[in-house]
Amino acid sequence: MSEEFDFRHWSHHAADWSADYLESIGERAVRPTVRPGAVAEQIDDHAPESGEPMGTIFEDFENIIPDSMTHWQHPRFFAYFQSNASPAAQLAEQLATAFASQCMLWQTSPAATELEMKMVDWLRQAVDLPAEFKGSFQDSASSSTLCAILTMREIALDFRGNQEGLFSKAPLRVYASGRTHSSIDKAMWIAGLGQDNLVKIPTGDGPLYPMNANALRAAIKTDRESGYTPAGIIICVGGTSVGATDNVAEICAIAREEGIYTHLDAAWAGSAMICPEFRHLWEGAELADSIVLNPHKWLGVPVECSLHLVRNPETLVRTMAIQPEYLKTHGKDGIVNFSEWSVQLGRRFRALKVWFMLRFYGLENLRNRIRNHVSWSQGLAENLSVSPGFEIVSEPVLSLFSFRHVVDDGRDLDQHNLNLVNAINDDGRIYLTQTSHDGKTAIRFVAGQFDMREEDVNIAFEAITEVAHSLG
Ligand SMILES: *Cc1c(COP(=O)(O)O)cnc(C)c1O
Repeated sequence: MSEEFDFRHWSHHAADWSADYLESIGERAVRPTVRPGAVAEQIDDHAPESGEPMGTIFEDFENIIPDSMTHWQHPRFFAYFQSNASPAAQLAEQLATAFASQCMLWQTSPAATELEMKMVDWLRQAVDLPAEFKGSFQDSASSSTLCAILTMREIALDFRGNQEGLFSKAPLRVYASGRTHSSIDKAMWIAGLGQDNLVKIPTGDGPLYPMNANALRAAIKTDRESGYTPAGIIICVGGTSVGATDNVAEICAIAREEGIYTHLDAAWAGSAMICPEFRHLWEGAELADSIVLNPHKWLGVPVECSLHLVRNPETLVRTMAIQPEYLKTHGKDGIVNFSEWSVQLGRRFRALKVWFMLRFYGLENLRNRIRNHVSWSQGLAENLSVSPGFEIVSEPVLSLFSFRHVVDDGRDLDQHNLNLVNAINDDGRIYLTQTSHDGKTAIRFVAGQFDMREEDVNIAFEAITEVAHSLG
């Protein structure tokens, strides 16, 4: 029962546990070798009728959970894109949980709302976008992108879609390269626009695989002639599979000629834009109508923290604001209510962790981490490219590249590389994921864990080459 719960004691205990966990995390296998169902078997089938002592609960936590987790804060996590939780930001998360505030309206969380406005603006300046961009912290890039696609939809329908529905309207079309993230496809489903109306434009050559601008123009023209309504373009910078990056300025220029909305998905690569030398990758970003980047991927802010920036908040808010009587904040007009910028009504206090993190580390420290990740990853790509049996499949884009191991004994190379990535992950020293690139199975490598060191990349080289040789 809560009045008997010694919150102070157990909070300290949890803090100690977390510090010990993070200090020794490098000694763990990055990905557990746990069989499906093994955890569920250890959990009771029903909730207890009466409460149990926290000591028992904590003991079960220690016995059941950590060894069956994939350790995303491990310095040798090189899979997917990293999900970072810098210790300074973890502290803010604890405090935000203590408030457990719903940051939906200014009046339900004045400090959270005003801090969010400031932190959005700090990050906007850090990535060098113009002051007209305003934004909010959403839970995920998937949600930010959904809001952008809903905004495209409403603009194209003269803001009648929410009221009238989509029936009997000419289909709206959205354009993206074939190398964008699946969250775009999903947003098309949820927005009621349909997969078939996401027009995938072919891409040019590597290393950036940009959307073909002439093909985009032609697709828009054909669609108009066929009675469709072009509504928006999704621009990709740093795609998930091989870092595909569109030519932002060129695509935005076409969008302006055509009068259609643009959303720039830089969920991963956007964090690197705090470094001036990487900004060429999204040159022209200031021309986009909407931009998403995830501080929870590469800036050390724990999930969930996706920065959604828009050049004109008016169209977003007109799309997303719904105000039943009990949510109206009479007399407070002109004040930002962030629930009107997103799907969620109740929202976490996300700005606190950004504030702690940016102040404790400072931008220069964060830039140096990202620069190191990029140069260490590129060094590994070079080392692998001159190692017998290895070939680079996609050249590095920032800290992401892909490779494969080639044997000439007639083995199926796709299967061989799947076996290799599984064997590497079972080895435990590092964790990688595979992708399919131009019909070939390749192994992705991405550096970006907050506290990783160069020696972690050296260990990756050893693990990859040793395991490959053991497979022959
Ligand atoms: C990770 C990623 C996403 C999805 O991000 P969530 O926050 O998990 O929804 C979308 N686009 C790109 C390019 C990504 O790298």
